[in-house]
Amino acid sequence: SKDYRVVVVGSAGVGKSALVQRWVRGTFREAYLPTIEDTYRQVLGCNHTPGALHITDTTGGHRYPGLQRLAIARGHAFVLVYSVTKKETLEELKPLYEQIREIKGNDLQKFPIVLVGNKIDESGRRQLALRDGAAYALEWNCTFVETSAKADINVRELFHTLLSHQRKADTCP
Ligand code: GDP
Ligand code: MG
Repeated sequence: SKDYRVVVVGSAGVGKSALVQRWVRGTFREAYLPTIEDTYRQVLGCNHTPGALHITDTTGGHRYPGLQRLAIARGHAFVLVYSVTKKETLEELKPLYEQIREIKGNDLQKFPIVLVGNKIDESGRRQLALRDGAAYALEWNCTFVETSAKADINVRELFHTLLSHQRKADTCP
């Protein structure tokens, strides 16, 4: 089948689940519910070809490294999330980025990555500026966006970027 798998990674608490919930359900919750792994499936109705968009919301990866590795191996596109309110969460993406490159190779056209700085609604608690994320995106040659799952800023743009990559792939010509 022509399935397309988006894998969301990043440290615990940065808002991976919140971004996915905001996009899939249009909701936000303040309470923190640790995730093991969830997959959201949306059927794509293009050209009468059976296929689906899968969004895999992963856990931090320290407790379940094998699960994360498998998710990356099966993925077509990757969302790397950090929180602008927690400096180390951006640096913590580096080993994840390297793991993606190691597993998927260097073909960014084939396996696009989007770097996401979340929680921009918490402007008073910012530890990372726009330029900090932009510098990583430049180094990694990937798309970059700052978001807020809470205030619903740039969440649709983030997923639309991924869907446009997906349409460029073979799922929906
Ligand atoms: P995950 O571990 O990466 O899946 O993080 P969660 O999505 O579970 O979010 C962790 C915590 O951060 C929760 O308490 C959320 O309510 C909160 N959170 C997530 N996104 C945002 C955001 O954009 N702004 C603010 N202020 N809080 C957020
Ligand atoms: Mg989660």
